Amino acid sequence: MGGVAPPIFPSSLFVFEKLDDLHSAMADHPFGPPHHYSRVSNPTLAYAEDKIAAIEGSEKCILTGSGQGAITTAMIANVQAGSHVVTLDTIYGPARVFLSEYMARFGVTTTYVTGLDTDELLDAVKPETTLIYLESPSSLLFRLQDVRKIASFAKEKGIVTAIDNTYNTPLHMNPISMGIDIVVHSATKYLAGHSDITAGAVCGSRERLESMTRYELNLLGTILHPFSAWLLNRGLRTLNLRLARHESTANLIAGWIATRPEVERVHHVSLPCFPQRELYLQMMSGSGGLFSFEPKTQDPQKIKRFVDSLELFQRGVSWGGFESLAVALQQQPLDYSEPKWLVRLFCGLEEPDDLMRDLQPAWPRLSD
Ligand SMILES: *Cc1c(COP(=O)(O)O)cnc(C)c1O
Repeated sequence: MGGVAPPIFPSSLFVFEKLDDLHSAMADHPFGPPHHYSRVSNPTLAYAEDKIAAIEGSEKCILTGSGQGAITTAMIANVQAGSHVVTLDTIYGPARVFLSEYMARFGVTTTYVTGLDTDELLDAVKPETTLIYLESPSSLLFRLQDVRKIASFAKEKGIVTAIDNTYNTPLHMNPISMGIDIVVHSATKYLAGHSDITAGAVCGSRERLESMTRYELNLLGTILHPFSAWLLNRGLRTLNLRLARHESTANLIAGWIATRPEVERVHHVSLPCFPQRELYLQMMSGSGGLFSFEPKTQDPQKIKRFVDSLELFQRGVSWGGFESLAVALQQQPLDYSEPKWLVRLFCGLEEPDDLMRDLQPAWPRLSD
């Protein structure tokens, strides 16, 4: 009908002239078309799925109700009782809890490594390892893994690899082209980009995702709603513009913070002083708006006062939308002898000068 914006198909089901056609849709077309039931596939989701698969360089993409739904879908699809998983101690928190507290109930064990040293990760692999789950850069500390090396080792051993690519988006890294089997995204963040939906994406081969559609998506009921898929589709149209702005603002602000006397170190992949700079340049074509820093003072009261005094940086979890965000968390990765407080900042789309003016009067709170 000529509309430049795609329609929303909120329909939960799709009807057929003949019973045979319905049977064939159910048996032979897991992704549709023809679509038959929106717990399995839906045309509004297909618009966004095709776009994400195209930019991620994967055969297929399926959308879930949240990034966590994409993560659990990818994990459950690749373990059974007795399976072993190798992952990082600094992956997204709920992904770690899912493995350590939830999958453990079903006889799945997990080994955590720092991921900083490829041999350390490969040494953790056992005969019963079925899945290596990566996140590069990892949450809060932004540690990278040598994705190509790990993927090629896993292929030789017949171990499935999956990676959380939320930080990079398909614009800054394409893990499928590096040999990874499954890429998951929290589309809640940059892909949708407006802090108005939760959504997740799983990318991979047609065969793998067909199985996930028949089993995990259909049986666990984790699919995205069409209204949310429509907003995701709208957000995707400006992804490149938004990401470039988040990146340039964060580079400016992280570079400035790295010179502050109140700051011990900044964890930001694109800073020249980032310890894994070579891997960064090798694997990624850019960074983004998210980074963290370790204040010299580890007094929680001072750190809280610093975060509480900000106005444009609002206190909240998540990231990837318009608004700048700040949060302070205590972390103790495997290789730290004691927990450390980190301040994580997300640089939104506000004017960079305004964000600097917001931070400027807050610094004395870290030294007072
Ligand atoms: C937010 C986030 C997730 C989880 O996504 P939701 O959409 O909140 O479920 C997973 N991985 C990373 C890196 C995230 O930042």
